Amino acid sequence: MLKITAIHTLVDNYIWLVLNNNKCLIIDPNNELLVTKFLRIHKLQLVAILITHSHDDHISGVSALKNIYQVPVYGPKETNYLNNYTIKNDDVINVLQQYKFTVLSLPGHTKYHVGYYHYPWLFCGDTLFSAGCGRIFNSSIKNMFNSLNKINKLPSNTIIFPSHEYTIKNLNFIITNNITLLSNMFIIKYYRRIVKRMILNKIPSLPTSLYLERIINPFIQCTNSFYYKNKLIKLPQGMNNFDYFKYLRNKKDTF
Ligand SMILES: [Zn+2]
Repeated sequence: MLKITAIHTLVDNYIWLVLNNNKCLIIDPNNELLVTKFLRIHKLQLVAILITHSHDDHISGVSALKNIYQVPVYGPKETNYLNNYTIKNDDVINVLQQYKFTVLSLPGHTKYHVGYYHYPWLFCGDTLFSAGCGRIFNSSIKNMFNSLNKINKLPSNTIIFPSHEYTIKNLNFIITNNITLLSNMFIIKYYRRIVKRMILNKIPSLPTSLYLERIINPFIQCTNSFYYKNKLIKLPQGMNNFDYFKYLRNKKDTF
């Protein structure tokens, strides 16, 4: 059976590891020293490195780890120079015996950003965060919207593993700006209390679930056609769901 664990690095990054007994794959390793130490302590054998996108805080450990362990690197077009295998949407990665991972193209944060999916787990890099979504760098807001829409079509029990611990910041944004598309601010405030306590006790607020994000995350809610077609979410007058998504993303950029 697969297990998932994380190495906390930099200020708020998580490197996710998927373990099948003593074999493991690693997603977005940004620090070779912490990874080698972790693998040694837990007697793990690294079998592959998976990359979601080209930003330094996701790839800065890749070259060193590739040299030390001689393992294949799977990544999108934008990390071509590091990849043994340049992957694209719907490719299947088969490195942990019967446990296969499907590549989901998720552009928006960057042009060729990908996620890795093995039901019910999704490693989504900087596309979706708990209560938020990634910034737009060299892609477009429309791509980000479509990528979140794609994630939102997965089953509600999907467990989501973003790369950053941004939950409190995102909940602060929602609460400060009174963004309650489902009129459920009491739930959002209650959830912030829970997450604050977790962080205080050094417990990650991640992974999250699609079920929870549909309740607290306004970016996911904007992509939910069931919500807006049935007028379950309250969009400001004159704005459609994409306008509001764009408005929220712009507002968050300066929060
Ligand atoms: Zn990034």
